[in-house]
Parts: sequence; structure tokens; C-alpha cells
Amino acid sequence: MKPIVIVGGGLAGLTLGIALRQRDVPVTIYEAGHYPRHRVCGEFISGHGRTVLAELGLEKKLIAAGAILAHDAAFYSGAKCLRHDLPQPALCISRYKLDGFLAEYFQKVGGTLHTDQRWNEPYAEAIVRATGRRIQKPDGTRWFGLKAHATNVSLEADLEMHIVPNGYVGLCELDSGQVNICGLFRSETAVPDLSRVWKKWFSGPEGSALNARLRNAVFDETSFCSTAALSLQPQQAAEHEECCIGDSVTMIAPATGNGMSMAFESATIAADPLTQFSAGKMTWSETKDRIASALDRTFAHRLKWASRLQYMLMSQPGYAITLGKFYPLWRLFFGATR
Ligand SMILES: Cc1cc2nc3c(=O)[nH]c(=O)nc-3n(C[C@H](O)[C@H](O)[C@H](O)COP(=O)(O)OP(=O)(O)OC[C@H]3O[C@@H](n4cnc5c(N)ncnc54)[C@H](O)[C@@H]3O)c2cc1C
Repeated sequence: MKPIVIVGGGLAGLTLGIALRQRDVPVTIYEAGHYPRHRVCGEFISGHGRTVLAELGLEKKLIAAGAILAHDAAFYSGAKCLRHDLPQPALCISRYKLDGFLAEYFQKVGGTLHTDQRWNEPYAEAIVRATGRRIQKPDGTRWFGLKAHATNVSLEADLEMHIVPNGYVGLCELDSGQVNICGLFRSETAVPDLSRVWKKWFSGPEGSALNARLRNAVFDETSFCSTAALSLQPQQAAEHEECCIGDSVTMIAPATGNGMSMAFESATIAADPLTQFSAGKMTWSETKDRIASALDRTFAHRLKWASRLQYMLMSQPGYAITLGKFYPLWRLFFGATR
């Protein structure tokens, strides 16, 4: 079997690595960072991602490692709150644990992992790009994300989304009494010094439910992380020269909470064509085309609806509550973005 190189050991890269090892393909992953580490993420997995994890034999192991289930969600805008049961429970786990677990498991099944090694070579044959989101050009609205964990925060639903003037803040119950606090914000000017002022972005307007929720929060300062220059413009896999999976193809609007699922799904979509390439049954060009068209077919509908949802939530906060109020409409958006 020809070996495959994966650049980027995030969720997409590690999941593809595991899926290929389960098919006896030799795989090496190059990761610029190390494990475990905190990542900006709402840290709940919903949609087909759970099925992929179950099929790879990972879901039960993640639950044993501390993942818990979220059953309901609440939306807050101004003084209004609407709560719904989730059509299917979401799986909540910190990225610190999740990425660390997958990295360990990948090596356990025979994969080779090089950490703290940034790939700077061209993407030649047999190299898959899983390097995460692409950087936004510095024009127009700047989007940035913040995440931290805290204790002493009581939630009214397992997942909460609070619409704030410049974006939204999501709260998600994790294990050991910890709560994930993750926000997506926009700024028309250069992003302020986040390492000093991040708690202010989370706190929400005085008198809001978010402000009350976080009043006595005890933050784990070491868990704070941020990411800026987020490109939320949907792209197609076929537009890229390289063989891409996960956010390196395109990033779905974070408000959908479906990016991790797309990373897992794209990995399993790529696994069979790459196995055939590795066995000498397909050329690299056929492999790349097969993967790109399958990814574009699978995600086109979801990305279209996610852009609409993003627009409604971020440009017209009143829509968020309208959406939450009419359960069939909420279910329609929830289903269409998964
Ligand atoms: C604010 C916010 C909230 C979110 N909330 C959720 C949520 O609640 N649920 C959900 O499902 N999704 C959520 N997401 C999306 C989710 O985090 C991503 O979709 C997911 O992490 C994508 O996985 P990936 O493997 O493609 O990229 P990543 O997880 O980003 O991994 C890419 C990896 O590649 C490495 N890398 C990059 N360049 C190189 C290089 N040259 N050489 C070697 N390594 C390299 C990086 O170090 C990184 O480890 C959120 C995103 C944001 C921004």
C-alpha cells in the first residue's frame, strides 16, 4: 500500500488518519501544534458526526473519556428566552480532551504523528490538506472567536445561545461541573487586545440573562483561547488545488454547531477513495476529484442554509427569537444545517 501524508492533526486529519489505519493504509500526520491544547469551539457535536464517531468505534470511548449528552437548547435575545428539546442529543466534550484522545488513538492503531512540525512543502501526490480554516482577507467585517471554561455557572438548558449586540455567546455543559463559554463576534475595526479584555466580551449587556449567568463564574484562565480573521464565505472543495478535508475546504457558520461533524464526515468520505489510491486502483487526480465532488454534493445544501442562518442571527437579532418561537421553523433550520 502507498503511504498517505495528512497535513494538520485537528479533528478532520486525525479522524481520516484513524479511518485509513482501520483499512491498513500507512499514514503519517504532521501537526503544527501539540496535544492536549484548548481550541476555540462550542464543544458540542451534533448531526451526522455522532454517527461517524459510532461507526469508527469511537463514540463509546469518548463517553468513557468524559463526553456527556446535551438534550435541550435555549435561545436568549434581550429579555426573551425560548427552550426546545434537541431532535437528537448532542455530544459535549472539551477539545482539550477530544483532540488529545484522537491523537492517542491514531497512534495506538499504528499511525505516525509528528507534533510541533509545520508543513511548508507543496501539496504533491498522496498528501491531504487538513489544516483547518482559511484566513479571511483583511477587508469587510472581521469575525473573531473566543473560548474559555468556567465553573460556578448554572444553565437553564444543556446548550444556551445568547444573542449579544456584536455576535453571540454559547454556553454548553461539560463534565466535572465545567461550562464551555464560546463566542463569535464581529468588529468593523482591528480586533482589540483580546488577551486582556476577553471576559468583557463574554459578559453581555447589564441586566441580560448572560450577564446574570456569568456573574459568579470562576474562569479557568489557562483554557482561554481566541481565533481571528475567520472566513465565513462558503467555498467548494472543487475550487481548491489540493486534496482538502474539514475546514480547509470551507468553514460552516459556527452558529450551526456543525463544523466538527463536517470534519468527521469529510474524513470518512475521503477514506475509501484514498484507500483505493493507496492500493494502486485509482490515480491521484481521480482520487482528488472523487473526494471533492462527494464533499461538495454532501455539504452544498447545509452550507446554503447555514449562510442564511448566520445572516439572520448576526444581522437581524430579532429573527433569532422569531426562529425560536415557531418550533417547526426552528426544526427546519436545525435539520437543514445538519
Ligand atoms: C467560535 C467557533 C465556535 C465553534 N463551535 C462549534 C461547535 O460547537 N460545534 C461544532 O461542531 N463545531 C464548532 N466550530 C467549528 C469547529 O471547531 C471546526 O469546524 C473544526 O475544528 C474543524 O476541524 P478541522 O480538523 O478541519 O480543523 P482544526 O480542528 O482547526 O485542525 C486543523 C489543524 O491543522 C494544524 N495545521 C494548520 N496548518 C498546518 C501546517 N501548515 N502544518 C501542520 N499542521 C497545520 C493546526 O494546528 C490544527 O491543529 C466552531 C468554530 C468557531 C470558530
